Amino acid sequence: MGKNILVFGPNGSGKGTQGAIIQKKYDIPHIESGAIFREHIGGGTELGKQAKVFIDKGDLVPDDITIPMMISRLQQDDCKDGWILDGFPRSKDQAVTLAETLKKEGLALDYVIEIVLDREIAKERIMGRRLCVNDNNHPNHIAFDAIKPVEKDGKLVCRVCGGDLNTRADDQDEVAIGKRHGIYYDETVGTMAAVNYFKEADGPKVISVDGSVSIGEVTDAIMSEL
Ligand code: AMP
Repeated sequence: MGKNILVFGPNGSGKGTQGAIIQKKYDIPHIESGAIFREHIGGGTELGKQAKVFIDKGDLVPDDITIPMMISRLQQDDCKDGWILDGFPRSKDQAVTLAETLKKEGLALDYVIEIVLDREIAKERIMGRRLCVNDNNHPNHIAFDAIKPVEKDGKLVCRVCGGDLNTRADDQDEVAIGKRHGIYYDETVGTMAAVNYFKEADGPKVISVDGSVSIGEVTDAIMSEL
C-alpha cells in the first residue's frame, strides 16, 4: 500500500513529533503547512508577509494563499513515493479541495491518522514546546522526558543537534491558542469536520489513536496500523 498520509490532531497533541517519526521510518517528506508559512515569514517573502498577519492572531490564512501553496508542494519530485501532510487540510473546504485535487491527479489517499486529545490537555502542552532553529523535525518539549531539551552553557538547546531553541509567538498567546483550538474542534466547518469527511470517505484507512499517553505509546499505536 502506498504512503500518502494525513495527520490530524489539535495543536499540542504531538502530531508534529509523530510526523517526524513516520518521516524517518518511511523516508517520505513531512510537509507541515505551518512550517512552510514560518519559512516564508523568516525569508521575508511576499507570501510570508501576507500570512503573518493571520498567523500571529491564530486565524486561518485564507484559502487562496494556502491551498495553491500546499498543492504545489505536493507536486514536487520528492512526493512521488508518498508524503505526510500535517496542518493541511484544516477545514472542511480544504479537505474537499484536497480530495478533489488528488482524484483529478490520479493519486490515492492511503491513511488518515487522528490523534485524539482533550482541549485542556492540548493547551497545557503547547506552552512547553520549543522549536529548533536548525530543523523543524527536531521536537523539543520542556515537560516530556523523551524529548526534553538539553542544557549547555546554562541555556536549553536542541536535544538532537544542540541548536538554539525558539518559542513560537502564537504558542505563548492564550487568545491565539484558543482560536486555533476553536478551529480544530469545530465539527461544522473546521478541522474536525475535515476529519469526519475523511472518515466517511471511501478509500483511506483511518487510524484513530489516544494522544494522552506517552510519545512511544502513540507511535506504537500508529505503527501497528500503518
Ligand atoms: P501550525 O504550525 O500548524 O500550528 O500553524 C500555524 C499557523 O499557520 C496557523 O495558526 C494558521 O494561522 C496557519 N496555517 C497553518 N496551516 C493552515 C491551513 N491549512 N490553512 C490556513 N492556515 C493555516
